[in-house]
Amino acid sequence: MTLTRRSTILTGAAALAGAGLSAFPRRARATGGAIGIHPISHASFVMTLPEMVIWNDPVGGAELYAGQPAPDLILITHEHGDHLDVPTLEAVVTETTVLVTNPAVHGMLPAALQARATPLANGERTEVGALSIEAIPAYNTTPERLQYHPQGRDNGYLLTAGDTRIYIAGDTEDTPEMRALEDIDIAFLPMNLPYTMTVEQAAAAVAAFRPAEVWPYHYRDSDVEAFAAAVAEGESGTEVRRGPWY
Ligand code: ZN
Ligand code: ZN
Repeated sequence: MTLTRRSTILTGAAALAGAGLSAFPRRARATGGAIGIHPISHASFVMTLPEMVIWNDPVGGAELYAGQPAPDLILITHEHGDHLDVPTLEAVVTETTVLVTNPAVHGMLPAALQARATPLANGERTEVGALSIEAIPAYNTTPERLQYHPQGRDNGYLLTAGDTRIYIAGDTEDTPEMRALEDIDIAFLPMNLPYTMTVEQAAAAVAAFRPAEVWPYHYRDSDVEAFAAAVAEGESGTEVRRGPWY
């Protein structure tokens, strides 16, 4: 099966090479064992880069994170309880942990956490050590879902470390900003209704921005097998990665 798929892709690549196009997403050049991804639950995960340890939206209590390396950076995408949990944050930050949040969450943090947090509005960038962080808008676009994530409030994050570009979508649908992303090595995409998007929307986004690999996350009760099948049909060459999120 793998061989068949590979030969199909190579045939497509050869055909497109003559037209000066690439059939491939950019390969994850820096990710060969250098990046560790550890799903915790739902939207929460730990990611280890050569440069630092990043925790995304840690919720659920410190005991869930036992055995994980301490966070140098904690990213918070937005204020919902499956993304922001102040007691968990208070329990897991170290003396050197910094946070990057959307502005609304920044305003909700107790002073001790707020002092180590940088608010990042949609479209803004900041640096943490060697890592560049850009806030990508995360919002609903379907009329009956607009109340969950109104445009302008919540963040996804584009992380750039050397040549590696990692996109954590947050709670969003397949926005124009997502579809316009380029050269993404690793993407985390949510798919659950009514809060984010359908597996079909997520797969259509993958076909548009062609990340090298995609991790479905935040997908409770959604059919990620259907997502994987739709991604394969999209012929982006994107690898679907699965983890123990639930
Ligand atoms: Zn949300
Ligand atoms: Zn959520």
